[in-house]
Amino acid sequence: MKPGIIQTVTGDEEAESLGMMLPHEHLFVDLRGPFAPGYAQADPDHVVAVMKPYLAAIEAAGVTAFVDCAPIGVGRNIAVLRRLADSTPIRIIAPTGTYKEGFIPTSILDLSVEALAELWVRELKMGIEDTDSRAGFIKIALSDNGPTDIEVRNLRAAALASRQTGAVVASHTIGGAAARRELEILERAGHNLQRFIWVHAHTEPDTALHIEAAQRGAWVEFDAIGAENWHPQAALLESVVAFIEAGYADHLLLSHDAGFYDPSQPGGQPEPDGIRGYMVLFEQFIPALKARGVADEVIRQITVTNPARAFSMG
Ligand SMILES: [Zn+2]
Repeated sequence: MKPGIIQTVTGDEEAESLGMMLPHEHLFVDLRGPFAPGYAQADPDHVVAVMKPYLAAIEAAGVTAFVDCAPIGVGRNIAVLRRLADSTPIRIIAPTGTYKEGFIPTSILDLSVEALAELWVRELKMGIEDTDSRAGFIKIALSDNGPTDIEVRNLRAAALASRQTGAVVASHTIGGAAARRELEILERAGHNLQRFIWVHAHTEPDTALHIEAAQRGAWVEFDAIGAENWHPQAALLESVVAFIEAGYADHLLLSHDAGFYDPSQPGGQPEPDGIRGYMVLFEQFIPALKARGVADEVIRQITVTNPARAFSMG
């Protein structure tokens, strides 16, 4: 598939006109979930004031597009994202979709596959909520030993909405066993796995399962860069190098899953470590890949070409 159009919150972009893109980051997240008082509420100007230095740093490093991966249920706030997008030349891509069981708003809990897909298609084609900012992809999530029944419904709705829009489906998936179950469900629903991103693939230590997913067409996303507390960085580097050396650089996505402004905390600083920035890929991880012999054109493929292809409306 050739790069096409990427739908950002400030309008459509030719994917080929973009440079480096971070495929999985966060500007604004509320992990209290949709039932908490004050959920996902904050002063957009304060969010901009807090997050602007982090965007400025990656802008200086050459990042042109930023995929915000917080779907409905963990703090997606389109007013905040639009205000952020207006404050930076970096294009921001926002999802439709919903987070895992326990974070799914009551309003969509009992919808059929078709009705849920219709809602997501509307956000992809018309705009998110009452805005003209179109969603650029579908973000869903599995429970750790999922998918649960409601998450199977979400997968089927994602497949249906993707078929009607060409949007890529990105799914938070812990471990290769869950990924296998999910790929089966999607394939049975008629989904083209080239329109699928296995989010958090680094949680599976076995490179054979990364390769299996790539052979079936999926994007394999290692998105714990800089998150030493969550995933040892030496192991992360080995997983990525093994995947590249096996010949699958053209199915690889790299990101930090970092950030973010947390509206549940004073000043927006998430507990306990505060906001995590988005520079480790450029300052440490890419140099480490180069030191392991990964060529400049492969780095470019991973940071520019692959995300452009993955997030183009297929
Ligand atoms: Zn994330």
